[in-house]
Amino acid sequence: EPRFANMTALITGAGSGIGRATAIRLADEGAALALVDLNETGLEETASMLPEGCRARIYVVDVADEKAVETCAVDVENTFGGISVLCNNAGMICEGSWGRSQEDFADWRKVYEVNVLGAMLFTKYTREQLKASGVGSIVNTASVAGIRAGAGGNAYSASKAALINFTKTSACDFGEHGVRVNAVCPGLIETGMTKPVFDYARHAGKEEKLGSRAELRRHGDPTEVAATIAFLASKDASFITGQALAVDGGNTSS
Ligand code: NAD
Repeated sequence: EPRFANMTALITGAGSGIGRATAIRLADEGAALALVDLNETGLEETASMLPEGCRARIYVVDVADEKAVETCAVDVENTFGGISVLCNNAGMICEGSWGRSQEDFADWRKVYEVNVLGAMLFTKYTREQLKASGVGSIVNTASVAGIRAGAGGNAYSASKAALINFTKTSACDFGEHGVRVNAVCPGLIETGMTKPVFDYARHAGKEEKLGSRAELRRHGDPTEVAATIAFLASKDASFITGQALAVDGGNTSS
């Protein structure tokens, strides 16, 4: 039987990149999907890429909008009868912050609202569904930037470090209910978020620099992160909780 047969997964940031690859992966393995993003066109595109017969619904929601998250969670419960997998994957970086420190209060607040509070809100409003499923699992998309100083600016790095710690405290909160909570920490992956970096490197003829921080000397593909998210969300990881697993080609290993 497929690993996610008779299970529903809610994925935020499902309109692009890693979230889209995760949606396709979980659907291929039998999951029904609640797909959340700000970007409606992106969500429709993701939905059109799912295998035939996959049950999916799209939700245009800002993960930092408490009321919208609560409404979404209620609709998901009514539509699917609750979720057993939550992927808090939506995230953002401030425009122009690559490689720089930010000191703008509004930038810091925005990054924290989406990257940290967004995960907190979906965790809060799906808590009872996850507990009731009996096999509940949360996977948060953090970053290698949350492990050491990252390329996306200090606000982004600090927000991802906060998300890693929130993953661990959530694992404590949920443990007695049998719900596991883990994080993936991707290295450099080619997605919408990193497009400026890839465009710049290609334009400047510095493509080989893109993977230079990874032991494997390359950047990663969203499907490689999606495969890890699927593993952590599945019963194959039934004794793993509170972990932050780097999917980074060895970027943080030395
Ligand atoms: P992406 O830009 O392709 O996808 C992110 C998606 O999140 C977009 O569709 C965007 O519309 C959505 N989103 C942003 N803010 C939102 C909000 N407030 N509410 C709802 N949706 C929102 O980028 P990606 O690389 O696939 O990013 C996915 C996750 O992976 C992010 O959390 C990112 O920080 C993390 N990450 C990415 C990399 C990388 O190299 N690409 C590395 C480490 C971590």
